[in-house]
Amino acid sequence: MTSAAPSARRARAGELSPQRLGRIRSRLLAWYEAHGEDFPWRDARNPYWALVAGVCSQQTQMPRVLPLWRRWIEAFPTLEALAAADRAAVLRVWADAGYPRRALHLQEAARRCLDVHGGRLPRDEAALLALPGVGPFTAAIVRSFGFGEDAPALDTNVARVLGRLLHGDLQPARETPPAALREGARRVLRPGTAARWNPALMDYGARVCLPRPRCEECVVASWCAARPRFAAGEQAEPLRAQPPFEGSDRQWRGRILAALRATPQPQPIERLIAGLATGGMPQSPSPGRLRALLDDLCAEGFAWRRGGCCGLGAPPGEGATGADGSDSASLPGADDGRERDG
Ligand code: SF4
Repeated sequence: MTSAAPSARRARAGELSPQRLGRIRSRLLAWYEAHGEDFPWRDARNPYWALVAGVCSQQTQMPRVLPLWRRWIEAFPTLEALAAADRAAVLRVWADAGYPRRALHLQEAARRCLDVHGGRLPRDEAALLALPGVGPFTAAIVRSFGFGEDAPALDTNVARVLGRLLHGDLQPARETPPAALREGARRVLRPGTAARWNPALMDYGARVCLPRPRCEECVVASWCAARPRFAAGEQAEPLRAQPPFEGSDRQWRGRILAALRATPQPQPIERLIAGLATGGMPQSPSPGRLRALLDDLCAEGFAWRRGGCCGLGAPPGEGATGADGSDSASLPGADDGRERDG
């Protein structure tokens, strides 16, 4: 079978009739009512809960998000509690959830809200995007779940559903132009429904319109532009594989942080390095590489070193907010992953 060229498929997608759109919406919302996940932040209208959920779900699969979110909210139930916390405590609660920069970004965002927004999360998209760690996906999560605003959230799962359904692309993350996805996401969102529509698309991408889609059980297959292509035997080309984690800098940075989390006391650097380098693990890195990784962690605000000792978080004596009253100098710019899959 010959498929229409992508540009022709996209032109057809622009011709979606209101009736077809209406049927797609009602079918997916009905599916969500029956099969959607019941996460606590989705119906709470609590902007802080939504912020934490949005940041936790960046680059993390949803089954791992809920325990992390619960742990975080229990430890830091409000923006004030998070802003006042010790940086080491923040990193301990984040624990081994991966990409710990997100934990520091959350704390810095809380401090900015206290300093600049009267102790509340802003409702405005531009103000949300100015917070550390908040990109378009997390801003949309805060606006839709936290405030009930009409903000379409576009992550990998949503992009996959919309790129296939509207544009007939099999691997939308690679094939569908981001502007077309954003426009499609705006067009299919019916005003007043974002708090249910966003999670409906997220869950549908995670459960039905998977990388290898389950078209035979799909409730919108009749209107899907990609369905004929999958039915004809075409397959979505896999996305580029992640580089191996085993032996990577990321893995060893995680092990250094785990060793620092294990004790509240400062640790002699050489003992820490020797323990990791000779810990009996295959492919242990050289002491020089471990020292360099520790230096990087210190430069990025995850750890400190002083006089041959090191520890988690901010150096002793700098208090909860660091020597200059802010963590921001040591934090890289916002990096909203937005990309989660499965
Ligand atoms: S028919 Fe298949 S490709 Fe289309 S939305 Fe349903 S599951 Fe996804």
